[in-house]
Amino acid sequence: SYRKGGYHAVRVGDSFASGRFIAQRKLGWGQFSTVWLAYDTQTSKYVALKIQKSAPEFVQAAVHEIEILSAITENDPKNEKCVVQLVDHFKHRGPNGQHLCMVLEFLGDSILHLIRYNRYKGLCLNKVREICKCILTGLDYLHRELRIIHTDLKPENILLMSTVNPSKDPIKSKTPPILERPEGSFPGGGAVNVIEKKLKQRARRAVAKIAAERRGMIGCAPEVKPERCLDGIDFSCKIVDLGNACWADKPIAEEIQTRQYRAPEVVLQSGYSFPVDMWSFACTAFELATGEMMFAPKPGPGFSEDEDHLALMMELLGKMPKKIAIGGGLSKDYFDRHGDLKRIRRLKHSSVSRLLIDKFKFPETDAREFAEFLNPILDFDPEKRPTAQQCLQHPWLSQTGPKTVAEKSNPVG
Ligand code: ADP
Ligand code: MG
Repeated sequence: SYRKGGYHAVRVGDSFASGRFIAQRKLGWGQFSTVWLAYDTQTSKYVALKIQKSAPEFVQAAVHEIEILSAITENDPKNEKCVVQLVDHFKHRGPNGQHLCMVLEFLGDSILHLIRYNRYKGLCLNKVREICKCILTGLDYLHRELRIIHTDLKPENILLMSTVNPSKDPIKSKTPPILERPEGSFPGGGAVNVIEKKLKQRARRAVAKIAAERRGMIGCAPEVKPERCLDGIDFSCKIVDLGNACWADKPIAEEIQTRQYRAPEVVLQSGYSFPVDMWSFACTAFELATGEMMFAPKPGPGFSEDEDHLALMMELLGKMPKKIAIGGGLSKDYFDRHGDLKRIRRLKHSSVSRLLIDKFKFPETDAREFAEFLNPILDFDPEKRPTAQQCLQHPWLSQTGPKTVAEKSNPVG
């Protein structure tokens, strides 16, 4: 994908925005972008630089993401709403084309990493509660204040607030920054005036000097150790990846959400709104507590992935009300007129609390209480699902279970 219209190849020490940001190490990538840890020479802080692929459709998507991120940032001046903030954005010309770049506040590992480091055993319920509170705070802000649907909530898109300093000694620019805006090369680029030119020359000389001093010493940025041990860390997290988010009154796509976190109304194409994020939230909370996905559908002999997904939902949550089952654009393909699945006839009925007890060995009380929190959010009827604001009032979130030994001996948070 490193070709015309694709990703921009970055090396450690590359500079962006006329030398303001220096690439330190790669943080991650998605379908549309690569994300780099960068040092902001203007504020002496670390940021995450999301560099979009350059083909027109990706530029379009980035323009939309920047619009959403700007609204999120402008309406949360105290940065307390648990959604990632946009620091700046700019255009960067490279061999593969012109890339829109988003400068985001730097965050830590995703909670998917957290589950992995914990060997998919699930986190203790007190930690799950803390993470749930952050996600719900973020969702309540997006939904109620901004009217934004995230549409891709999942563990991968929840990042911990970094408690680790990425590297005390940032890597300086390896090469003098090139002027990234050839005059008049794009709208708004404009001519570079004389003062700006002089300032840039001076900055270039300074950076070149530092680079010369450090030549040979620069390798890879030191790796950040995963925050493996959570006991005693009073952490919080934030919702990221607004690349698929939309304004509630302007839904963009019909098929949204990552499969395992997809709500029934999306599977059946019955139209959607904020409650789709609540469904994904419940699936995410379950995964945090158990280490396993709540629904992992697969196609089988004679039935599709969608049908397996609907069957798994009904096995765990009970029969879908007929009104909901037959009300979607794809209902006729999957359900008969009685509201039973056409091609998967025998369902193995269970419940969330039974699953927690039998498969995940939860103590009965923990299982019952956690299931009481999750079940209403997993209502097949989107209109009956509680809102993020209502979930935040749920007594389960303010409970504190028995403390672990490690927490007792290390009483932080
Ligand atoms: P895409 O829209 O291409 O999927 P994402 O916004 O999901 O891109 O970012 C891709 C990856 O980059 C994430 O999964 C995460 O690992 C990393 N990442 C994104 N934003 C940040 C950030 N603000 N701080 C740290 N890492 C980030
Ligand atoms: Mg992503």
